[in-house]
Amino acid sequence: MRLSKYFVPTLKEVPNDALVISHILMLRSGMVRMLSAGIYSFLPIGYRVVKKISEVIREEMDAIGGQEFHLPALNPREIWEETKRVEAFGDTMFHLKNREYVLAPTHEEIMTFHARNVVKSYKDMPQIWYQIQTKFRNEPRPRSGVIRGRQFLMKDAYSFDTSWEGLDKSYELHDKAYRKIFDRCGLKYFVVGASSGAMGGTGSEEFMVKSSAGEDTVAYCESCGYAANVEVAESRIDSVERDAESKNIFEISTPNVHSIDELCEFLKIDETRCAKSRIYIFNDKPILILMLGNDEVNETKLEKVLGGAVRPAHPEELKAISGADAGSIGPVGFSGRIIADNRLKDANNMFSGANKNDFHIGGIDFKRDIANIEYADFRTVISGEGCPRCDKHLEVFPAIELGHIFKLGTKYSDSMGALFTDEKGEEHPIIMGSYGIGVERVMACYIEQNHDAKGIIWDKLLAPFKIHLLGLNLKKQDIVDTCEKIYNDLNRQGIDVLYDDREVTAGFKFNDADLLGMPIQVVIGEKKLKENKCEVKIRKTGERFDVAIGELQNKIKELLQ
Ligand code: ATP
Ligand code: MG
Repeated sequence: MRLSKYFVPTLKEVPNDALVISHILMLRSGMVRMLSAGIYSFLPIGYRVVKKISEVIREEMDAIGGQEFHLPALNPREIWEETKRVEAFGDTMFHLKNREYVLAPTHEEIMTFHARNVVKSYKDMPQIWYQIQTKFRNEPRPRSGVIRGRQFLMKDAYSFDTSWEGLDKSYELHDKAYRKIFDRCGLKYFVVGASSGAMGGTGSEEFMVKSSAGEDTVAYCESCGYAANVEVAESRIDSVERDAESKNIFEISTPNVHSIDELCEFLKIDETRCAKSRIYIFNDKPILILMLGNDEVNETKLEKVLGGAVRPAHPEELKAISGADAGSIGPVGFSGRIIADNRLKDANNMFSGANKNDFHIGGIDFKRDIANIEYADFRTVISGEGCPRCDKHLEVFPAIELGHIFKLGTKYSDSMGALFTDEKGEEHPIIMGSYGIGVERVMACYIEQNHDAKGIIWDKLLAPFKIHLLGLNLKKQDIVDTCEKIYNDLNRQGIDVLYDDREVTAGFKFNDADLLGMPIQVVIGEKKLKENKCEVKIRKTGERFDVAIGELQNKIKELLQ
């Protein structure tokens, strides 16, 4: 491709509405443009990468026996009503003004619809059906570019089996295929969640990458691979050790002390002597939650412990509930349910609020002074804490989901009546799995992980072009001739070349070449050409060396090996 004729509107400046690095670089390199919030157009050079990623996915899906479909994005609403997912998706689903239709946010219903009509006998299974197709979701906060679009490309696959063992096999196949896909795409990823093994109904794994654009927070151990969403993550951390002797309880005036840090400073004590109080409302009743020192409550964990939704009590409710405002609340004399984090188990000689503004209580013995106290784990793990599986440490960071594999079981076949007859002629619901990958997300995450201050660094597999050919002074006929010959020869060999044949300065060309990030740059300049040589630069390492023009093709083939 000749850059003079190719539509690649590169930008020198960072667009000011873009905050995430992949978004910035995709805009700057002319790969995408925003049409409206969360809606992106792929321009020619960006679309080449989309196609390459799709091809990798296609090859690996075909390798596990997947059959490619292409389902409509425009769906009759009534099919979605069979599974009650119009309600479940709520505002995320796009409805047309013509109320009979919706835009599909995923395709379980449509695949199940087809299976219901044709997969009737045990002999018809197993099946793996997939597609690479556009999905529509009215994401409330579309930011971070194509990472969270309102229209995006997903590879979605569905498996149909006659038994749970069969589902386990289909799931395993997808797990392996996903690892191959992400490995081939050069992504550093990790896997969260574990399958529940044989006979398991609802195993699920998420393939994640570390990214500042991520909306999930995960705890990860580089050493053993332990990875868990902070909503379920555990860590190896000491509990409070019970002192041999319990002091008597005493009240102490603590004017203007509201936080754990202020309390520690005021009383000259360590935060591990403090029990922090938080009041939550569960089923319209207040519950006092106690945390050690500055530990934070994880509300999702708390909801799991309680078995329902909670909300923090409003500041103006606190006094009526406990007798004090935030900062002076505590367990002694609190009437109502009290649950402490496991780290506080049987602690003594602790400080906490007195349920009286500007007073705290010391010498609290959890066993002696707090009747009916319960214990559970609902603290938020933080970076640096011990890994629960090995002797190394956890790192906690935002991450983004690249892909998801999921044992659906009979959820859709039950609600939609997709039944098959077994060898004995008995009817059963088909056992299903579903498996998704965000194609544009793979692209954005690759860029998140492979760039430098100058631009993108493509690996040869995903690169829009393998070679970026730069002719420096195109007023010189010998430079033009050499470039043309190299360009034509490489194209003939099936090696994609982006040829910068524009009448712009050398500096401009170098900057664009680094921004666009093709793996190999070939520079044809006057001085080297006099010696029958050109300069080759490896984008990733910045390494440069001279190659004789006659040797160039072989050298390139060697480098692309
Ligand atoms: P997230 O938690 O990030 O919203 P999800 O759980 O909604 O993801 P799935 O419904 O499992 O995602 O969809 C499968 C895959 O599709 C995801 O793993 C992700 O790669 C991609 N995906 C989901 N939503 C979007 C989106 N709004 N824009 C781009 N890709 C998306
Ligand atoms: Mg989502």
